[in-house]
Amino acid sequence: MTAIYPWQKEQWRKGMSAQQAGRLPHALLVHGSEGTGKLDFVHKFSQKLLCANETEKTACGICKSCNLFRAGSHPDFKLLSSEENAPIKIEEIRSLEDQLKLTAYGPNYKIAVICPAENLNINAANSLLKTLEEPAANTLIILVSHRPQKLLPTIRSRCQRIFIALPSTAEALDWLGDKDTHTDPGLLLDMACGSPLLALEYDKEEYLAAYKEFLTDFSALYQQTADPMQMSVKWHKENFSGLLKWLMWLTASIIKASMKSATVSDKMILKYTNDTTDRRWLFEFYDDLLRTQNMIHSSINQRLVLDNLMLKWHAKK
Ligand SMILES: [Zn+2]
Repeated sequence: MTAIYPWQKEQWRKGMSAQQAGRLPHALLVHGSEGTGKLDFVHKFSQKLLCANETEKTACGICKSCNLFRAGSHPDFKLLSSEENAPIKIEEIRSLEDQLKLTAYGPNYKIAVICPAENLNINAANSLLKTLEEPAANTLIILVSHRPQKLLPTIRSRCQRIFIALPSTAEALDWLGDKDTHTDPGLLLDMACGSPLLALEYDKEEYLAAYKEFLTDFSALYQQTADPMQMSVKWHKENFSGLLKWLMWLTASIIKASMKSATVSDKMILKYTNDTTDRRWLFEFYDDLLRTQNMIHSSINQRLVLDNLMLKWHAKK
């Protein structure tokens, strides 16, 4: 089995000691930013709980249970996942609940994973709530979410939380350093907004070209040598959510750099910007971006929102 990521070791240790002490709850909420490897963590944790070889620190990878798990056909493990904007419906939750009621194949748990849990629609969430209120013995429901604030508070309160944070820049660079990337790891980490796992995915020429274009265009706008409306025309066809993330990361990096706690990669970003920066404005702009990100799945007019962001980034007021 692949090793636990270094930034997840503490959460792993806590989860394992809870299990060994018989204190594992019936429901877990594994949450944290995108790109922290939450679902990987849940897979490794589940495989370990189902593994027949109890003496190992991680799943042994060779027992019958591990083989079934790796093949994606372990009868005691169900993953209910959905694409970014696709709701999870009540029929899917009912089918999952029916499977949890069946007798376990192995001697351990029956595990159901829902990812991302914020995609549960209201009926599905209410149905799940009933199951969480009356948990069956030896069942474990794991919700995976990068927006836990979107879950029903009554669901959140019935889950024990496991928070997985992004690693520090130093830790992420250290991990990436072993991966033989083609591109400078610092640049990749900026492209991936601090996620080492995404950074690895982005180690491709086409991503790099798009990111460099983003930095060039947004620095020109920031320095008022480009026209915001022209830029909006150029960028509105791009993935809006991805563009927002880059802009948030860039804004946060300029704030950090202006506070003189810049990391090496932050300094690289700083050269695209004018450092006579009004920090208060940057914080306000960052709040704007956060609000926009929270509205992104509702029916906002993305073109209009992008126009406004471009105008603000240009005028800085
Ligand atoms: Zn095993």
